[in-house]
Amino acid sequence: MKKVLKITLIVLAVLVGLVLLAYGAMFLKLKHETSGFAPIETGRVMDNIYVVKDDFSNVYILRDSLAGYVVIDAGNSPRVVAEQMNTLGIDPQEVTTVLLTHSDSDHIGALGLFDHAELYMAREEEQMINGTTAKFLWFGNMLPRTDYILLDDRQIVHIGGLKVEGILAPGHTAGMMAFLVNDRYLFSGDIASLKDGKIAPIPAFFDMDNAQALRSIDIIRNLPGVEYIFTGHWGWAEYKTTTK
Ligand SMILES: [Zn+2]
Repeated sequence: MKKVLKITLIVLAVLVGLVLLAYGAMFLKLKHETSGFAPIETGRVMDNIYVVKDDFSNVYILRDSLAGYVVIDAGNSPRVVAEQMNTLGIDPQEVTTVLLTHSDSDHIGALGLFDHAELYMAREEEQMINGTTAKFLWFGNMLPRTDYILLDDRQIVHIGGLKVEGILAPGHTAGMMAFLVNDRYLFSGDIASLKDGKIAPIPAFFDMDNAQALRSIDIIRNLPGVEYIFTGHWGWAEYKTTTK
């Protein structure tokens, strides 16, 4: 009996060791890949577009005379986002609308700062937060709110004086959606990075379906009339130079 117990304990110890090793390797890989992110510093970007630099991502803020402040992606750390918004003189409580490109934690972490805001995301993304589709293994995404408004591909909503068109671009998550604002400004979330001023894939490690993500990048590359692209982790660029 003692022998059986001993073998069981050894097997358990080996299993626990393997799991810890896998987590450790995953952590190192994650650290390595996120070190390639290049978010831009907090400030005014152009026109009525502002940016906040979170730990390793960018939160974009649009100011509209009718809608007030509209936030695109809510960042990772509530403390950092609040501090950085403070340097811009923007009170998170004045944010009336939040558009989520997707539901990963680094894009929804500071959502609690904007609890007065209306919340939009893609209908296809709901599967990521309701237990239907897991982001990684059996781990699903979580959203602290259920009062969101769901958008279909190419659906247009008017928020104050802003025209917002949702462009479904799955691959990174099942329902990633880019937002085209006033036909000129494209907020691409995590479907694309910028490399040497050009649209490029994000590291495949972060995608749920890399082949689908590459097809979505083609959609993002071929939108007519776009002038600027704003990414989740690599800042912004003029669209025409990125797509040459
Ligand atoms: Zn991200």
